[in-house]
Amino acid sequence: MRMAGLILASAMSVAMTGTAWSQTPAAKSAAATQAAPAVTPAAAPAPAAGPAPQAVANPPPPQQATQPARTACNNPNALGVARTVEIDTTGGPGFGFEHFKELDFLRDHEVVLTFDDGPWPRNTPAVLKALADQCTTGIFFPIGLHSTYEPEILKQVYAAGHTVGAHTWSHANLNNKKLTEQQKKDEIEKGFSAVKWALGGISPSPFFRFPALQHPPEMVTYLGNRNVAIFSCDLDSFDFKASKPEKVVDTVMKKLDKLGKGIILMHDFQKHTAEALPELLNRLKAGGFKVVAMRAKSPVSTLPEYDQELLKDVKLPTVSTRPVSSVVTTVSE
Ligand SMILES: [Zn+2]
Repeated sequence: MRMAGLILASAMSVAMTGTAWSQTPAAKSAAATQAAPAVTPAAAPAPAAGPAPQAVANPPPPQQATQPARTACNNPNALGVARTVEIDTTGGPGFGFEHFKELDFLRDHEVVLTFDDGPWPRNTPAVLKALADQCTTGIFFPIGLHSTYEPEILKQVYAAGHTVGAHTWSHANLNNKKLTEQQKKDEIEKGFSAVKWALGGISPSPFFRFPALQHPPEMVTYLGNRNVAIFSCDLDSFDFKASKPEKVVDTVMKKLDKLGKGIILMHDFQKHTAEALPELLNRLKAGGFKVVAMRAKSPVSTLPEYDQELLKDVKLPTVSTRPVSSVVTTVSE
């Protein structure tokens, strides 16, 4: 299931193999086998076909409504949110000491919770509930395809006040040597456009995480030109290979005890993570850890040609996105 999750196109079928262009030392330990998007081959549209190559032009940030605030906290003992930081993504800053060591902004005992590979039924809503119960927050890096499968769940993530970035269109390993540079850009851009589509046209944050933490240098540069921040992590929960929820909690707490702080990589796609999160948040609170929220100064500027292509792929009835209740009214029965 893990491997089947990657896309079907032959060009991407060996997505886990190429590391030759890795900018940084080979991704740590099992990162290359990380995160198993369950993209069903039968349901997966063809990979991003890609508009013609062109110079990257950054449109001005879209004007859009302010994201809903988190609801008021009714739990006086909640973990909560200790600090909110705003990120200026100009030039594509990198976060997470596994790959980027320039921006050491977390104080001792501060953590950032991050969740990849959603949105996914049951598990993502369970993660949302655990966060809400503790009045806390995280950054979600959804897969574009998954976002087209479960747009309502992604809307719930955004409506709850969490930060939403992107994690490619199909979870392709962008270090795969068989991918052209254009195909890699397509993965990035179509991923953002898919998230935007799923959010009903609201642009997500210009926050990006490379699948399996594989960072091809030319795409790092590309994201810099696109003013998109790159998120590696400080500590990997390895939740995708945990045998049980307790293992996720143990791994994170052991690493935190050693590092004292950090951006934590988890997957709302994973059942064990969803099950582990209430206990993990309890342990963070008991250990004196504080959650930091990261917000982008401006939303991402998606490229119009990818927005258009996405609409074509999902075969949307573009004439109307109104809810059924506003279109169909029972007048007699
Ligand atoms: Zn992933």
